[in-house]
Amino acid sequence: MIDECSVKDALGPLIEVDTSNPPGKNSRRIANILREQLASTGCKFKLVRSPLDRFEALSKEVDGISGERVNLIATLDRGEGKTMIFNAHVDVVPAVGEWTKPPFNLTKAGDELFGRGVSDDKGPLAMFVLVIKELAETPGWRGKIILVATVDEEIGGYTGLGYLMDGEVISGDYCIVGDGDIDSISNAANGCLVFKLTIKGKSVHSSMNWLGVNAVDKAAKLITRLEAYNKILNTRKSKVQTNSEKGVTCLTPSLTVGLIRGGTKVNIVPDSCKLEVDRRVIPEENKLEAIKEFKKILEELKRADKDFNYDLHVEGLHNSFYVREDNELITTACRVYEEITKRKGRILGTLGCLDTSYVAKHGIPVFTFGVSRVESSIHGIDEHAKIKDLIDFGYIVKETTQRLLR
Ligand SMILES: [Zn+2]
Repeated sequence: MIDECSVKDALGPLIEVDTSNPPGKNSRRIANILREQLASTGCKFKLVRSPLDRFEALSKEVDGISGERVNLIATLDRGEGKTMIFNAHVDVVPAVGEWTKPPFNLTKAGDELFGRGVSDDKGPLAMFVLVIKELAETPGWRGKIILVATVDEEIGGYTGLGYLMDGEVISGDYCIVGDGDIDSISNAANGCLVFKLTIKGKSVHSSMNWLGVNAVDKAAKLITRLEAYNKILNTRKSKVQTNSEKGVTCLTPSLTVGLIRGGTKVNIVPDSCKLEVDRRVIPEENKLEAIKEFKKILEELKRADKDFNYDLHVEGLHNSFYVREDNELITTACRVYEEITKRKGRILGTLGCLDTSYVAKHGIPVFTFGVSRVESSIHGIDEHAKIKDLIDFGYIVKETTQRLLR
């Protein structure tokens, strides 16, 4: 039975383990709790520690991370048939700010539960546990259900779902990533590229600035060009619809100069200016084309000004993905959603990047779905979720799985 009582029993112990990331500790502790919760189901368990080199690469990018990274894989096996993967992440963002409720204790107020991770992402994780417990006692389905509780989603790490999928540690026929909102089934998301630039100048005393090359001035020229380029990108539209509350009706590419650092002292002409630029890529765009377009802007500036010199380093973060609306996984989930919530099931793309792309990349039909609402304060103070949304999420996942694993 998935009800208020079982929801609190499953979720409470998960909230009490502080998995704030950074530092991202306690993944083994939470894996052990999940193992205990699923002990009676007949699941087989595997703990997969992320290799040290991947963790070390991550610690160069994110300050203050420490502790081992342990992913839990729990498999409920009913023999021949298809495989459904459930994924949720165990880490949470730190509980900063003035909370009115204790962040690491599950608290009920009205028809809502409060605590860091209730919405993102321990709520869905606890619901997956309850679904597996229910299905372990339900006849009439066959195949496998794999719960994958992963690390480092909040810091964009490659030590969790990305590592497990690319390393072929897990595979399946369908996947539900429980890390979204209760109002829509998300079948697509934008991808992300980061351009790290160093604009190079020549430093001299500012009283003779005509003898130098000001790297900050050169960067300003580029920024003006990028502002115009972003406007062009914003007019390109994906065919994938998105939540109109975000100010657009479909997935849209964008470019943001997110960071600038230049100069050493006010009376020295700067010899270097660093820029970091975030480029969001819609599913219809090709990442290599996006890089080419960006480089073209740099080359044009270079042709027009021999003193415009730069170094460019490109990082590809998440890929975009798109799963067709008529895929059996999406249509089944949508039908079940409408039956259980009595609301219209909306299929929408997500503007942000998602770990879900690591699953879609391997050709596995997948969607993102969760328990949060705009007002749930995810990543904010007093994070919460409605008890009814948690229960609905559980039954939607259970019923969808049962219909697909026949
Ligand atoms: Zn999340």
